[in-house]
Amino acid sequence: MSEVLLKLSNIKRAFGSGEAAVEVLHGINLEIKRGELVAIIGPSGSGKSTLMNIIGCLDTPTSGSYEVDGHNTFNLSQDDLAALRRDFFGFIFQRYHLLGHLDAKENVQVPSIYSGYKKDRRLNRSIALLEKLGLGEKINNKPSMLSGGQQQRVSIARALMNGGQIILADEPTGALDSQSGKEVMKILEELNSLGHTVILVTHDPRIAAHARRVITIEDGSIKSDEINCEGKTHKNKFEEKKLVLKDSWATSFNAYFDRFKEAYVMAWRSMLSNRMRTLLTMLGIIIGIMAVVTVVALARGASDKVIANISSMGTNTITIMPGQRMGDVRSGKVRTLNINDLDAIKGQPFVDSASPTIQSQVLLRHKNIENNATVYGVNDEYLRVYGMNVAKGRLFSSSESLNYPQICVIDANTAKTMFPNENPLGQRLLVNSMPVTITGVLEDKELAFRPHDALYVYMPYSTLMSRLVNQNYLSSIIVRVKDGFATAVAEKSIINLIESRHGRKDFFIQSSDTILKSINQTTGTFTLLISAIAVISLIVGGIGVMNIMLVSVTERTREIGIRMAVGARQSDIMIQFLIEAITVCIIGGLMGVAASVILGYILSMIIPSIPLSFSLVSIVAAVLTSSIIGVAFGFMPARAAARLNPVEALSRE
Ligand code: ADP
Ligand code: MG
Repeated sequence: MSEVLLKLSNIKRAFGSGEAAVEVLHGINLEIKRGELVAIIGPSGSGKSTLMNIIGCLDTPTSGSYEVDGHNTFNLSQDDLAALRRDFFGFIFQRYHLLGHLDAKENVQVPSIYSGYKKDRRLNRSIALLEKLGLGEKINNKPSMLSGGQQQRVSIARALMNGGQIILADEPTGALDSQSGKEVMKILEELNSLGHTVILVTHDPRIAAHARRVITIEDGSIKSDEINCEGKTHKNKFEEKKLVLKDSWATSFNAYFDRFKEAYVMAWRSMLSNRMRTLLTMLGIIIGIMAVVTVVALARGASDKVIANISSMGTNTITIMPGQRMGDVRSGKVRTLNINDLDAIKGQPFVDSASPTIQSQVLLRHKNIENNATVYGVNDEYLRVYGMNVAKGRLFSSSESLNYPQICVIDANTAKTMFPNENPLGQRLLVNSMPVTITGVLEDKELAFRPHDALYVYMPYSTLMSRLVNQNYLSSIIVRVKDGFATAVAEKSIINLIESRHGRKDFFIQSSDTILKSINQTTGTFTLLISAIAVISLIVGGIGVMNIMLVSVTERTREIGIRMAVGARQSDIMIQFLIEAITVCIIGGLMGVAASVILGYILSMIIPSIPLSFSLVSIVAAVLTSSIIGVAFGFMPARAAARLNPVEALSRE
């Protein structure tokens, strides 16, 4: 292995571009050997820090070549440079550059997270290093609880965490009192005696006197490079580390997982330290997700209820009505639907049962109780068509229907209302002053599309037609299709049959099938509309997240710089910010779901008739959407953070 560790040839560095470019380093040639203690001195502004940043691979020269242990750095990617910073260099800065929200031992561990050391190994080594540097008592202290000298010792421990074969110290004593400064210098000399190559920048000749080799820089050029006889030299006892850019541990799954976990913890901490801001950021997502989940649950609840109603009939029914469509104003004038049509329909092979209906509003009277009701004229098959049953008594027979008998069957509600304390069977009820005898009471069952508090009375259609309403045409015919017959086929043949009988199509058909279809269509349209609103509100929420993340990146530029200086890859920085964005969104999403469930609960207390049906799918979709928003809107700020120039980021306040 060659003695020369670092070799700079004709290194130039200019800032700015074009005409405005200012060259700060004018062709530096320098070789630094293994185990040297080198002091670089020179007046302020002479380019010492610029040179150090290039030596430490934090910055790249404008021209010239730089070799680390025989490897030219020219072709290295950002990640390879990060690996060099991580595994070979240890930075010590004038102003320590510790992360304020981490305690001493955590600060020391940061470089090793990016190299993929296992957690317990990390912890043990960080504590051992701090103890060696006399900070055994302070391992849990945050930087703000440490003196300048102590902070600088923490940063030395950090520089040593991954080995620190080459220690780069840019004015390490510049911010310290003379006593602490001496201590730091003593540590650096000791490290050098252990074999670390130490490069030290200072403008203080007394500090430089500790070094065996002193390089003087003025105006971006080396003025002198002298061996200082008073400085000590040390035998190189350092076990040499080979320059390997990709070690297997750091690329293993476990290491990835560990880095991911660390990034997650970091994200979590930064969110907790800005609770109010985080909550406000989440608000957009919370409201968006809450709105979506609630409305979807409402739509589902409503359509579930209708569908349940329809299927509660348990039968496949077709209704034939006069007119062109539901709500046709002229349908009242169409009087062609009659009892012969019913007989013709009954002759069809697919008909299970069929009944005419004639409908009329009447006044019911019993003793002193009066009520409005709807009376249906039907035949003996009516109950079978709708799958209804008589709870007490019986329905009239087909032969009875022919003689216009004054009998009726009432529904459970009518029984309750008109005969609160009596058995209605056999009682007489006045229907528009016509007395009828009650032969049966229906079981209590909610029927689709009928208000549940209305009263219904069923009597033979012949009685109703001749004695009450005096009409010879029907309001509708209802048909129950035999099980196993396709409703669509039955519908078609009924249409053909009636059309040929009437000579034209003066009727229309409604089946449970078509109703279901139209309900599904309506809910579909509704859901689409809501989704559109949801997308808009979620985009607004996402923009909020992006905005806050951009602020966060700006605020934490120095932190990003520090992380990069100790060896974070661009992807590490990116992942950290992405995770933060995603976490904000997912938590916001979950809070939105929770808010929606609470809202649903309150709604169901206030208005029980509005059913809410939360679906797991919509909840999962909502949370998924919010995490996608996190990725989508977190990407730009995260990339901006990852692409920051480390040197610039470090110099930011
Ligand atoms: P020293 O560390 O010796 O005090 P620096 O290396 O920090 O000096 O700076 C050397 C010169 O380069 C100074 O004149 C400084 O203004 C300039 N300089 C340093 N960094 C930048 C930068 N990012 N953009 C423009 N000029 C810079
Ligand atoms: Mg400087």
